[in-house]
Amino acid sequence: MDTKLGRLISGSYSTSTTITAPPSGSLQNEREKQKTVPLYLEEDIRPEMKEDIHDPSYQDEEGPLPKLEYVWRNIILMALLHLGALYGIILIPSCKVYTWIFAILCYYGSGLGITAGAHRLWSHRSYKARLPLRLFLILANTMAFQNDVYEWSRDHRAHHKFTETNADPHNSRRGFFFSHVGWLLVRKHPAVKEKGSKLDMSDLEADKLVMFQRKYYVPSILLMCFILPTLVPWYYWGETFVNSLYVSAFLRYAVVLNCTWLVNSAAHIYGYRPYDKNIEPRENVLVSVGAVGEGFHNYHHVFPYDYSASEYRWYVNFTTFFIDCMAALGLAYDRKKVSKAAVLARIKRTGDRSLKSS
Ligand SMILES: [Zn+2]
Ligand SMILES: [Zn+2]
Repeated sequence: MDTKLGRLISGSYSTSTTITAPPSGSLQNEREKQKTVPLYLEEDIRPEMKEDIHDPSYQDEEGPLPKLEYVWRNIILMALLHLGALYGIILIPSCKVYTWIFAILCYYGSGLGITAGAHRLWSHRSYKARLPLRLFLILANTMAFQNDVYEWSRDHRAHHKFTETNADPHNSRRGFFFSHVGWLLVRKHPAVKEKGSKLDMSDLEADKLVMFQRKYYVPSILLMCFILPTLVPWYYWGETFVNSLYVSAFLRYAVVLNCTWLVNSAAHIYGYRPYDKNIEPRENVLVSVGAVGEGFHNYHHVFPYDYSASEYRWYVNFTTFFIDCMAALGLAYDRKKVSKAAVLARIKRTGDRSLKSS
């Protein structure tokens, strides 16, 4: 990080703000204000968006969960995909080297479509991106096939706002399997629908690219997630059709899905909570390896507007490295980063004392 390149890429943060009470009024007023205004208004580094901020006032109603309603179409498709992916593992040794490289590139590309795209850009608005980058991200996101960006972001904002309640689409209190994949195999809890439909999504409704993807989602995912990854190795370097389909389409798709799901399951169950010991999301470096930087989940739930989704920048965080490279090219800007002082204050106030610095 201290290299010349690092300084060049990181040198253009436009926002790293620690906000104290505004300098107005008399000195007496100022002193009064400082008693009531928190020292760090952390959320105000991104005043335009509040829909991903945790709302502790929402609590589950008493009573048992409604009976599970299985969505058999999803159960069958998921089972077939995972069987196909397992077969893909067997085929790996018989693939050409170019196919391995291509499948890995598709893994990172579609991973970024989720992490840098649906997550940090569209759900949290933690940085801004110019059109060429947004185009890349929407294509990459379509290759990842995890519902369109609009739906993904609505679910994700609900996850942050109503974490670990019935209005959280993948409520981790319902167990590892439910928060990993089970939530996609059953009908949504009524609270998810009710609270989700009330979220302000006007920013994405005004985003032509996001709405275009939503409108043409089915043909787009067929093309980007399955047809293109199959045809490229087969056509360009003579890979067998079966290897192309099972390795670079099915296996790569299933791996990215599971890595993303681990953020909702493992990173809500296993790991330390150095920033807030009162919430379930945790710091999990292993998840960060697979999910290209999204495993610093205790931090992320405390500071959802931080573009790095971590206190750190490039530490096990390929997504932040990618966004910083895009910023160096002028394609990403206005990266929100929480100030060190605000982070330390929070560690001191609510952390579990697992960090050396605390
Ligand atoms: Zn979470
Ligand atoms: Zn998030």
